[in-house]
Amino acid sequence: MDAVDILKQPVESLVGIGVQIAKRLNKIGIFSCHDLLFHLPVRYEDRTRLHALGALEEGLSVLVGGSIIVTDIIVRRRSMLVCRISDGTGFLTLRFFHFSAQQQQQLIIGKQLSCFGEVRMGFDGLEMVHPEYRVARDPTILIEPCLTPIYPLTEGVSQSLLRKALKQILPFCEGSNLLLQEWLPVVVRKNFMLPTLAASLKTLHAPNPAVASVSMRTRVLPEFRRLAAEELLAHHFARIQARNKARLATAPVFSDHTEMSMAFTQALGFSLTSAQQRVIKEITDDCMNESPMMRLIQGDVGCGKTIVSAFAALGAVSSGYQVGIMAPTELLAEQHFSNFKQWFEPYDIQVDFLSGKIKGQRRIANLTAIKGGDSQIIIGTHALFQTSVEFNRLGLVIIDEQHRFGVNQRLVLKNKGQVGDLKPHQLMMSATPIPRTLAMLRYSDLDISVIDELPPGRKAVITRALPAQKRAQIIARIMDWVSHRKQAYWVCTLIEESDILQCEAAEKTLATLITLLPGIKIGLVHGRLKTADKMQIMADFKQHKIDLLVATTVIEVGVDVPNAGLMVIENSERLGLSQLHQLRGRVGRGKDESFCLLMYQSPLSRVARERLTILRETNDGFLLAEKDLELRGAGDVLGTRQTGEMAFKVADLSLHQDLIDQVPAMAEMINKEAPEVIQPIIDRWFSALVHYVEV
Ligand code: ADP
Ligand code: MG
Repeated sequence: MDAVDILKQPVESLVGIGVQIAKRLNKIGIFSCHDLLFHLPVRYEDRTRLHALGALEEGLSVLVGGSIIVTDIIVRRRSMLVCRISDGTGFLTLRFFHFSAQQQQQLIIGKQLSCFGEVRMGFDGLEMVHPEYRVARDPTILIEPCLTPIYPLTEGVSQSLLRKALKQILPFCEGSNLLLQEWLPVVVRKNFMLPTLAASLKTLHAPNPAVASVSMRTRVLPEFRRLAAEELLAHHFARIQARNKARLATAPVFSDHTEMSMAFTQALGFSLTSAQQRVIKEITDDCMNESPMMRLIQGDVGCGKTIVSAFAALGAVSSGYQVGIMAPTELLAEQHFSNFKQWFEPYDIQVDFLSGKIKGQRRIANLTAIKGGDSQIIIGTHALFQTSVEFNRLGLVIIDEQHRFGVNQRLVLKNKGQVGDLKPHQLMMSATPIPRTLAMLRYSDLDISVIDELPPGRKAVITRALPAQKRAQIIARIMDWVSHRKQAYWVCTLIEESDILQCEAAEKTLATLITLLPGIKIGLVHGRLKTADKMQIMADFKQHKIDLLVATTVIEVGVDVPNAGLMVIENSERLGLSQLHQLRGRVGRGKDESFCLLMYQSPLSRVARERLTILRETNDGFLLAEKDLELRGAGDVLGTRQTGEMAFKVADLSLHQDLIDQVPAMAEMINKEAPEVIQPIIDRWFSALVHYVEV
């Protein structure tokens, strides 16, 4: 095969990879040999030397050799094959829970074995369970010249298959290969101490023992960091590019609506905080410009983002444009719907609702009103961007709890309902305060407005952690609380994601609470209720027809009932910091002191204990986000689990924090020294993914 072109070839062209295997590799994004080269090992195993049996340590994965001195079938609950080997310095037990008749014949006294496996403490001394082994006179038979890379696998693809495939590619891994051209300028590599691309790939796949023995984990190696740095740069540049491109488009220019805004403000019943006023001004200015707004409002739970978005909507509507508002849950969408109706209907502005649960005639009527332009503000879930929904004059898109949506979902909504060539303005809101470095990376295509002030009179939520044994006390507390004309939440959590189980648990809790709290009006809300029922219950709760609302975590985002100032969270040890903070954000919205009682099942794990302690100590979302990052890793903090967004091939957002910090400086250096490499860097990392970034 041609040396230059091999990296472009599909993986099928390698010896040992047929159509079936190729299909499996395709599933994890590996199509070409080039892709395979960027599939990096997560760690190494050291098979470069034999360890003496007398000097083994628990926990190490090692290569050993010895002859079989005992072999036996032991029958406990099921039978297992157990051998004992010796090399003159010590002994080791080998245990096989599954074994064939052939193995039984093979593993007999006197045979010489080479084994690789993890050393564990067993019933009678150190042992290996199901080691990899070879029966051979030569004890060095399993010895490898390099450390053995361990790759992330997919079903039906083995380590040895990947290793064999990579061995065929590595000889072509040279800087002279066009696909591996070095794009990082020398100054950047020098300044940030990054090795070259080709050398890095080579070393990572076939490390020389001296290099890698420093760490068996690959991610911290300079070679790995070098690749991570380039990938982060690619993301950074791609987002900046997308932003510049998006801004080239033309957006509707909203007209001056100061008078209307003033009337609207008057009707509110509270005055806006200065942070809210500042952000409203930023948005108004953006939308009076013909370049599309792409703005994110960041602000802790309860800071009052919704009303700010209502002002943005006012701008659009008074200029004759429609507004699409998208929320991640039905419950939140419904709540926005009732708020917006209350705010806008006095001005004869038509507010409509659309979710997947709205079907039949009503759906058709809604779609017609949206298409015809009668609907001016349309609030809904992701059902808003189904292809059947056509807008008439969409001028503004508002996305609440933006971190819950994938980038590609944003893309779809933005591309619809354009008026001629006009692109709607976009306003996103997020209550997940993410650490600044991550925000930079994730949101470098957006302008960010921060609401760093809570409405006046808010008091920090007093948070307590209580073991489940204190349930009776908690119940008494609720009784007392409700007798003071105040309302409360009881949140049921389950580790299972399953909706059905969550709802069952909530229903059970409801039944118990009804018997324990006679005379108290208790309601239940969960994800499987019909839309109308859910709306009714939330409305009842808001109007204080219900004292205690039993709920699943569906109330996590957005729900706002200021008179409800007590929240009990069952099994709080199962939830992450951010989720607990979001839940807790449902209380502390009124003027009175409010409480969050975190019930837990003892004993608590170390991490769970730490989480609950942090929550008790602070109400500051930013601080919590930093802690969350330390405890859980970046993927969870960003919510990428749900959305599959920001899927980095190489970079690890928690381990490579320092690199993330350096990205802007690197980017600036590249901009100055070698702007021509920007596009190639993006292409190298994004060719297949680029449509995700063009938001
Ligand atoms: P979030 O930022 O978490 O989405 P919301 O928009 O739901 O917060 O607002 C929380 C509560 O605070 C709502 O009841 C809202 O009406 C109220 N609120 C918003 N701004 C103010 C303000 N300036 N003064 C008093 N209450 C406010
Ligand atoms: Mg909100």
